Amino acid sequence: MNQRAGQTLNIDDLNSPHVDRLSDLIAEQIQELLVSQDLPVGARLPGERELAERLGTSRPTVNQALRKLALMGLVEIRRGSGVFAIREPQSPITESIKLMLNLAEDSVNHLADLRLSLELWGITKAIENPAGLDTGPAEAALAELRNSTSGVAEWISADTRLHVEIIRLSGNPYLTAVFESVHAVLVSRQYQQWIDEGVTPKWLEMHRVEAQMKLHEPILEAVKHRDLERGRVAILQHHNELVEHLVHDSEGRAGYDAAHPRKR
Ligand SMILES: [Zn+2]
Repeated sequence: MNQRAGQTLNIDDLNSPHVDRLSDLIAEQIQELLVSQDLPVGARLPGERELAERLGTSRPTVNQALRKLALMGLVEIRRGSGVFAIREPQSPITESIKLMLNLAEDSVNHLADLRLSLELWGITKAIENPAGLDTGPAEAALAELRNSTSGVAEWISADTRLHVEIIRLSGNPYLTAVFESVHAVLVSRQYQQWIDEGVTPKWLEMHRVEAQMKLHEPILEAVKHRDLERGRVAILQHHNELVEHLVHDSEGRAGYDAAHPRKR
């Protein structure tokens, strides 16, 4: 026996598993059920209370799991009426990018840079696209964005749809797919506190929606008028705002409502 045999494991650094992990596990389970039971689009999920009882956990934890599923495009949370199955699952590209970001949290600005390059390239291609531009889907997404002030989940999906529909006008399906994934991961980072705690980001409160619309409308307008310079300016403005939210997010959540301080 060597003299270190009497030594024991130092467990000072052990922590009880975080509630985040619990909601991940719950989200994974519900995801598996949604897939294995082939639930049709629009089918209603059991209520939070029933799920919490079944899982022996708290409603906030279940709520957090449901918000994760909403961001994954698997359910839609309709305020006041419940949670419903949808089928807009994340692509493997999204999963890979998310994993990379989780492994290197400080790489978020690189991801934002990539998003900016893809969006600039996308609208350049769209504006130069010799085919007629069918801006109908993008216009519908813009209208949806304006009407989605009732909840963060609705806002996120309308915002993603708008940006993606604009890039789709480039005519390059690979660009569209990669852009969608990069955007989705960044946006989910932007809304992290909403996922964690259900707190609406301060910059998305009702009275600021107009400011948000002013960031989005000019992008589509520029594409419609095939005005690359205006488009670049609009995209850079939107990008700066996005980066500011990400920066605030990593600097003590300054971008969020101080009345709901982060629990960690
Ligand atoms: Zn946006």
